Amino acid sequence: MTISELVRTDGTAEVTFQEVTLGQLHDEADRVDDDLLPCRANNPELWFAESPHDVEFAKALCLDCPVRSMCLDGALERREPWGVWGGQLFLQGVVIPRKRPRGRPRKNDVAA
Ligand code: SF4
Repeated sequence: MTISELVRTDGTAEVTFQEVTLGQLHDEADRVDDDLLPCRANNPELWFAESPHDVEFAKALCLDCPVRSMCLDGALERREPWGVWGGQLFLQGVVIPRKRPRGRPRKNDVAA
């Protein structure tokens, strides 16, 4: 969701909320040189990687993306089920801090 605020000359303001569709994101991204869009300039598989290291790398690459805010807003709105969007990792529609490696956690990772 994109939030816009219109402040009039009389000092009153109007706040509007606009949903960001995937189509709008693609339209906006099409106006930008592909070299400036990390998920187009790099291997797109990184944004849906299994490896936690690769996921963190994709998140870091997103930070320089000119459409990052729109991408993140749209992914939140759509409740993306999977992948890195707007510099955040989504799982089942919510942002999670980091991807866990496969398998059981190590015993020494558990607080005593
Ligand atoms: S912010 Fe969105 S469009 Fe930009 S690189 Fe990341 S996933 Fe791609």
